[in-house]
Amino acid sequence: MSIEPLFTLTAGPVQPSAETIRALATPIYDQFDPYFLDLYESTVENLRIAMGVSSAPVILHGEAVLGLEAAAASLIARDDVVLNLASGVYGKGYGYWAARYSKDLLEIEVPYNQVINPDDVEQMFKKRPDIAIVAVVHSETPSGTLNPVKEIAAVCARYGALLIVDAVSSFGATEVDFEGWPADLVVVGPQKALGGPPGLSLLYVSDRAWKKIDANPDAPVASMLSISDWRNAHLASVKFPFTPSITEIYALNSTLEQYLRESPQAAWSRHARVANAVQAGLLGMGLELWPDKREHCSPALTAFKLPTDCTGAAVRAHARAHYGVMISGGYGELTHSLLRIGHMGPTAYPVFAVVGISAVGQSMRDLGVNVDVGAGVSAAMSAVSTFTK
Ligand SMILES: *Cc1c(COP(=O)(O)O)cnc(C)c1O
Repeated sequence: MSIEPLFTLTAGPVQPSAETIRALATPIYDQFDPYFLDLYESTVENLRIAMGVSSAPVILHGEAVLGLEAAAASLIARDDVVLNLASGVYGKGYGYWAARYSKDLLEIEVPYNQVINPDDVEQMFKKRPDIAIVAVVHSETPSGTLNPVKEIAAVCARYGALLIVDAVSSFGATEVDFEGWPADLVVVGPQKALGGPPGLSLLYVSDRAWKKIDANPDAPVASMLSISDWRNAHLASVKFPFTPSITEIYALNSTLEQYLRESPQAAWSRHARVANAVQAGLLGMGLELWPDKREHCSPALTAFKLPTDCTGAAVRAHARAHYGVMISGGYGELTHSLLRIGHMGPTAYPVFAVVGISAVGQSMRDLGVNVDVGAGVSAAMSAVSTFTK
């Protein structure tokens, strides 16, 4: 087996662009060197612009799971009732953190090929008007679905609850409007549709969320899980609580510059186009999408059902060994049900749809599954040329 796959079309982390890789090679400056202080401040400003928000976001120096746990630890107080919305592995997992910090955890769980219905959220509020915080995952990466966060946020706002959103794999791939929805604590990762390396958590915190955190006696301070510690860290006059992940900041700033240069709207439309092409290609080949409806598919990756006559592990190993293409398998309880082709950031271009479709299709054929690779490629390409959005 070759050491490196030629194409990494997984559900993240992605293979960063050459420009991002060059940024990673910048010499390590001292954290208090004026060069780094300036860079940190302008990175947070670029992040604010990319997020389309009016206040400075916060960077936590660990992979996105740190930000997700920190959000639960900081926002949820011991007397809070939390409603967790579980439509997949990450949503279900958030409930375990939420349960640790809250008084009471309520949950709406739907089968992992479906999305959350905002009407069900409304019904829950009618039964339990004491819900203070709701948690939802925007793009459920393990099942390739996209929850209707805007509609869910509108319900939460009507009932005065704060909303935590895991937007790790949706940010950069689709339209977001954190202040407009509104959301209160949103966690983003650089390693998915922004095309950066894994290593940071990027947080939008609303004014209401800051008030709640400030009033929460259990919100961590002087801790790796503290959001408050890093609130003003981008200001030159404020010292970092500890050494930031300097190299990760170089890469983040580079990915944000690339994202803003392209324009978020153009990046979203690029992801929508390639997602549509991959869906069309898989269907054209004779496979079935995992989500119950095509309009529930995430623009960041496509999950599709595993035919009964092959295993996901065999298809993935074959695609990598013979065609140099690395794709993702199922995760958690979905391990034996599906496979996933990622189209995030630098791989959200039409040519990668063809690479993914042909590698998956021919690997399945090599393993004795009856799929029509040519029809799949042709359907993907026609979908590219006819796409309008
Ligand atoms: C990638 C991702 C995370 C980060 O989790 P890891 O398992 O550490 O990669 C969190 N939430 C979602 C929705 C993600 O896609």
